Amino acid sequence: MSEIRMNLPFHLDDDRFFRRECPFCRKEFKVLLEKEELTDLAQKGIDSFMIEAKEEAIDLNESELLGAEFTCPYCGQQAPSDSWWTKEQLAYMSIVVKNIMAKIVNENFTRPLKRTFRRLSSGMVSIRFEGKEIEQQEPWISHEVDDMEIFDLPCCKRKIKIEDNWVDVVYCFFCGFPYKHKNRETNDI
Ligand SMILES: [Zn+2]
Ligand SMILES: [Zn+2]
Repeated sequence: MSEIRMNLPFHLDDDRFFRRECPFCRKEFKVLLEKEELTDLAQKGIDSFMIEAKEEAIDLNESELLGAEFTCPYCGQQAPSDSWWTKEQLAYMSIVVKNIMAKIVNENFTRPLKRTFRRLSSGMVSIRFEGKEIEQQEPWISHEVDDMEIFDLPCCKRKIKIEDNWVDVVYCFFCGFPYKHKNRETNDI
């Protein structure tokens, strides 16, 4: 299988936090990720749109995916790492993937294939593809706004951002450890 390398930029906010959405309660939060984690995540996201890669992932990485569960900071429910895309991120990735497909089709089928076959042995026929080029859409994702407040997770030495007005328990996204919200704590004293 051939490989296409491309840049898939996701916007981070000014503190370099990345937006996520809970697949259960649909609330948004943000996580501070290492650069490699973000690259890995983007790769998995793109893979999930590619049918072949998806089948492979189900066969080979099922146990790995099941092992890597993350917890929603708000509702505490758990899901694998690729379950936390926002609707906008999913729409963005689907356009990127469509563009890759369009690029493959356009490069392989809409140009005369004569050139490709010229050097091959006689008996090879040339094929012309009459189709129109598939138009590519500009993938667009809105700029990350600096909303939400930072919440420290000493259990994993990580940071997340949660909604400003959230006063309930906050679960660690990485290990699920429950924290009493700091604002609540201050109020109780
Ligand atoms: Zn949730
Ligand atoms: Zn933790």
